[in-house]
Amino acid sequence: MHELSLAENIMQIIEESALEQKFGRVKTVSLEIGQLACVEQESLRFYFDVVKQDSIAQQAKLEIIEIAGQARCNQCDCNVPVAEHYAACPHCGNYALQVIQGDGMQIKELEVE
Ligand SMILES: [Zn+2]
Repeated sequence: MHELSLAENIMQIIEESALEQKFGRVKTVSLEIGQLACVEQESLRFYFDVVKQDSIAQQAKLEIIEIAGQARCNQCDCNVPVAEHYAACPHCGNYALQVIQGDGMQIKELEVE
């Protein structure tokens, strides 16, 4: 049910921006989803289709852009690509990596009219 609340969050942000920026219809929602965010894309699409009914985003298309995971290794002072949480640094084997990219979700762009 995690994806349902994400879809509801997206709708809420869209409605708030519609009030602020005074647009009446959303054509495309571009969404960035991090590889490490544990979001089931198909499931999110499904719930977005449900929550967008009777809203200004009723006709909106959902575009998902996947953001690769990246972490910082403080031990060898470099940025490394990571595909999962608790991955080890490929250079020095350090597990205390700090994820710096790809663990969240955000609306990148709304195409409106
Ligand atoms: Zn390292």
